[in-house]
Amino acid sequence: MYINPKYMKFPVKSDKNMEKYLVIGDPVGHSRSPGMQNAAFEKAGLGAPYGIKRVTPEELPEFFEYARKNCRGVNLTVPHKLAAAELADELTPCAAACKSVNTLLIENGKITGHSTDGIGLEEALKYCFNEPLSGKRIVFLGSGGAAQATAVHLANCNVAGISFINRTLSKAEVLADMCRAQKGDLEISCVAPDDRRAVAGLLEECDYLIQATSLGLKPFDPLPVAPECFQKGMKFCLFDTIYHPTPIQALAEKNGIRWANGKEMLIRQGAASFEMWTGIEPDLSAMRRGFDEGVPGK
Ligand code: NAP
Repeated sequence: MYINPKYMKFPVKSDKNMEKYLVIGDPVGHSRSPGMQNAAFEKAGLGAPYGIKRVTPEELPEFFEYARKNCRGVNLTVPHKLAAAELADELTPCAAACKSVNTLLIENGKITGHSTDGIGLEEALKYCFNEPLSGKRIVFLGSGGAAQATAVHLANCNVAGISFINRTLSKAEVLADMCRAQKGDLEISCVAPDDRRAVAGLLEECDYLIQATSLGLKPFDPLPVAPECFQKGMKFCLFDTIYHPTPIQALAEKNGIRWANGKEMLIRQGAASFEMWTGIEPDLSAMRRGFDEGVPGK
């Protein structure tokens, strides 16, 4: 896959005095973070210091030592978010609660781990559907890393209830307990995707359905719920954390259900990281443009 050299390693415009920023993952070549982060840095007059680096799980401890000496900020994507929570010197309360880290802030050699995925989803829901979150019923499809980082955050957003539909019910139950630890009186339930009656009941009642499984990333992936669960006139809005077209987005469109993809969530979690590193509120329009232009291979 061709990657624009601007986003390949360290930045073409950086000099040795410039602070360094990276996104790491395995794989990571598909990441839109360099495009949107460098757009924010450039708009703020800070050059284009944000690069991309493939780091395998085995290399992660060594990378932390590299980052400690050489970087100011790092974003982490699959599969590093849970392991990074163990390696950071300190965690913010939010990262400690969800046991997940997607952002590192490095100050005088100390590495603080933070999670901005939750605020990213919260801001994206408000922006895409133009309503406050307070009092809303949320249903998550999935209970993996993305659901973990975001559900624990939403538990503190004054929502009416959170439910999880997940193939491995035991993982949903662990996540439900993490949310209960945030807010003991929150209505929480867990359902298996093949329990059609229970799934249909949850979808009847919910305001936001968050698609947080990895189904839809590959071209022939099945739907994460039976298509019959989506009926015309249902009141919920679908938020698919995946930011390219997927079958569940098409199903929502066909049934007249409001939906949004994961682009705004990525922008907002990145904006929160940027602000933490620089103390500057980023230009979101520039970040959206950077996201669109930063397609690997373009
Ligand atoms: P993960 O930790 O690997 O979790 C994957 C989830 O998908 C689990 O709930 C898993 O169920 C479920 N799943 C996978 N294959 C399945 C199958 N064949 N049938 C039924 N369920 C299946 O991945 P993640 O890090 O949470 O990422 C999930 C999604 O979030 C990805 O699509 C990613 O692109 C997206 N994401 C988006 C953003 C954004 O900013 N827009 C940020 C982070 C992540 P089990 O528990 O049963 O295995």
